[in-house]
Amino acid sequence: MRFKGKTAVITGGSSGIGRASVELFLREGATVVMGDIDEAEGIAMMSALGDAFLFQKCDVTQESEIKALMDYAAEKTGGIDILFNNAGAGGPRDAIDEISGDDWDFAMALLLKSVAMGIRHAAPHLKQRGGGAIVNTASICAFQAGYGPIAYSTAKAGVLHLTKVAAAELAQYKIRVNAICPGFIQTNIFAASLGANKEEARQINSVLGQAAANAQPVARPGVPSDIAEAAAYLASEAAGFVTGTHLLVDGGMLVGTPGSW
Ligand code: NAD
Repeated sequence: MRFKGKTAVITGGSSGIGRASVELFLREGATVVMGDIDEAEGIAMMSALGDAFLFQKCDVTQESEIKALMDYAAEKTGGIDILFNNAGAGGPRDAIDEISGDDWDFAMALLLKSVAMGIRHAAPHLKQRGGGAIVNTASICAFQAGYGPIAYSTAKAGVLHLTKVAAAELAQYKIRVNAICPGFIQTNIFAASLGANKEEARQINSVLGQAAANAQPVARPGVPSDIAEAAAYLASEAAGFVTGTHLLVDGGMLVGTPGSW
């Protein structure tokens, strides 16, 4: 019960990493307020997950909806102790010599500005509680080309620097800010960015999961709970001396496999 008496706001919790995090934080005693663009799934989760779970529709590309989510969470539960800025999608897949300015702006709004505005509008509530923890989802794409499209990867690299500067600025209020960099995790994100149906999604995840497992020292596909556990650690008191940094949770993908070439 690491989060007994705490309120955690989690974005993008209708699916994948966010969903696993909602379930883990609830098991650990938190009241969870989840914001997601997928209203139907959020409402379905309200009836499945019980009184400690609240949902508010939130499109994280819209600052006003992010502010409304934070204010709703604080009003309904008495305050905010933890923010997990996790919502995201694959974004435009065009290369740098093809991408439009509008697509670039959308990727930055969805993957980078959303994190900044999440921190911006949660921070006053965390300050009122005398401190807390913020966790942002970045990616291995922030470190190395070849793992994601350019706009996505650039935004995720921005999340890492935003994490450091926000950590430096908010430490005086006892607010810690860290990032997680997942490697390949079997969720909906790849299939959704390719417009795949459910069966195609299963096949895509199976093929990509096997390819990732072959390329990692930890030879199995990553699963959403791998990242939820990392988020829970960074949000917990066990990480009380950890701020302004990132945790790679990639099965060793970035260190590579000995003898692979
Ligand atoms: P997912 O598609 O399973 O979940 C993403 C969630 O974000 C969904 O619930 C979706 O409805 C929500 N969402 C999308 N656009 C939104 C918007 N505008 N406003 C609010 N909610 C929105 O994908 P996932 O893999 O669980 O992704 C979670 C995070 O992890 C993302 O930030 C993603 O970039 C990051 N990530 C994933 C992987 C991976 O391999 N799956 C790797 C690195 C980073």
